[in-house]
Amino acid sequence: MSGTQTQVIVVAGAGPAGMAVASTLSKVGHEIIILNRDIKFGGLAEYGIFPSKLKLRGGLKKQYWELLQQKNVHYFGNVSIGNGKDLTVEDVRGLGANAVVFTIGAQGTKAIGVEGDSAQGVFHAKDVVYHFNRLPGFGDRPFEMGQHVAVIGAGDVMVDIAHWLIRYKKVERVTAIVRRGPVERKYNPKEIRSVCANMDLDGIKAEFERIQDRLAKVGQNSDEVLKAFTDEFTKCEAKVSETKMDFRFLASPKRILVDGNNRVRGLEMEDNRLDPKGEDTVAVGLKAYYEFPCDSVVFAVGDKVDETVGLPYKNGMFTTNPNKTGNDPDDALFQAYDESTGQVMDGVFLAGWARKASEGLVGVAKRDGDWCAEVVERYLATKAGEGDAKIVLGRLHARLKQRQSRPVDVNGLRALDVAEHSFAEKSDCIGEFKFSANQEMLKYIEQGRV
Ligand SMILES: Cc1cc2nc3c(=O)[nH]c(=O)nc-3n(C[C@H](O)[C@H](O)[C@H](O)COP(=O)(O)OP(=O)(O)OC[C@H]3O[C@@H](n4cnc5c(N)ncnc54)[C@H](O)[C@@H]3O)c2cc1C
Repeated sequence: MSGTQTQVIVVAGAGPAGMAVASTLSKVGHEIIILNRDIKFGGLAEYGIFPSKLKLRGGLKKQYWELLQQKNVHYFGNVSIGNGKDLTVEDVRGLGANAVVFTIGAQGTKAIGVEGDSAQGVFHAKDVVYHFNRLPGFGDRPFEMGQHVAVIGAGDVMVDIAHWLIRYKKVERVTAIVRRGPVERKYNPKEIRSVCANMDLDGIKAEFERIQDRLAKVGQNSDEVLKAFTDEFTKCEAKVSETKMDFRFLASPKRILVDGNNRVRGLEMEDNRLDPKGEDTVAVGLKAYYEFPCDSVVFAVGDKVDETVGLPYKNGMFTTNPNKTGNDPDDALFQAYDESTGQVMDGVFLAGWARKASEGLVGVAKRDGDWCAEVVERYLATKAGEGDAKIVLGRLHARLKQRQSRPVDVNGLRALDVAEHSFAEKSDCIGEFKFSANQEMLKYIEQGRV
């Protein structure tokens, strides 16, 4: 701890990274003010992790509730930071806290960048995930998927989308479109259990035969790879639909093909080969194109940060200090940095997916938050004087009032929790019941406030 001084830290974002920063710094006695866009805390732990993973979600929720009960932790949900939002980045810096940590995740979407990507039936994975997790703004929007869905990607998010399509939407077919080959798949074998009962094994075998020569050129034996691939289809969850799932490897979508109503009818695909690159491989386009029919396309290829927030930004990331400090963890990696001035933004830090978009699971985001808290502690130790939470909170309330914002505190969250539980029995949500509109949540928060 920085001497015996209590200081005030604003944590923007209440996902796993922000909650880790808040937890570590609150335990040493600092006053923590959490500002969060969503009414509810948890970030992607609430609105990303598959909603039927009740054990994982429940465990995280319990930890987060415990944190928010602490007297020195002040929660403000429904407060968005950004230009034209409840607070700008400069407003937040102007509150007078001793440090500000941005853990606002990776809210931007990577441009898909293929012709036709604005057609009806083209989706970003995150929007689909937000839809089935009932994030306000997404929960009630229709997502017309058709019967044959192409999901671009080979990671856990691709599997989560397939999980929803197979077990809940019960579409006819899901095809995972993978730029490289089966060896380069990225998903966790455990995750495939949610969908492996629906694998089209004949189709997968045929696909391996189709690409066997290209695999052989990089020393991959197609029979062995197929065995390793299908050996992971164990402990499959019981089948609940007749959906078939298959894979299309060594394939890059080049163009979305549409019908007369600008609705997806397929993909123009380019065949790829694999070239060795060190220990790894790269995909190289063969300029051989073919049509792949499908009704909708979901791009599950990762996210980027939201460049409109107002933090220095470059190439999909908020910029951090390029000048390493040699400390462990290295302070520079967490310090926001303005390339236009060549200066570190004094007292402003980044952690979690806001620092490295789409990097790892909850455990990785939490560890990033823990490391960031160490860096913030080191920074606070260099600053003389205590922080005054009353003054900072007073300014914050005044600013939010001026903007006619409707922040939600921990009492409001409790009221919301009670209201949601009362709907649980009638619910047709996946997992727990959730309201999918802020207005509805705010209504029950007002009614239930004690
Ligand atoms: C589809 C999907 C499934 C996943 N499944 C799993 C899984 O099964 N297991 C697992 O361990 N991990 C899973 N993960 C990964 C895990 O969710 C992330 O590692 C983790 O949530 C990242 O934490 P974070 O705090 O950096 O960001 P986030 O979780 O994104 O939290 C960001 C927070 O910032 C707030 N915020 C955003 N913008 C603003 C703003 N402008 N102003 C104020 N607040 C803002 C948001 O409201 C949110 O609360 C999954 C991720 C995805 C995308």
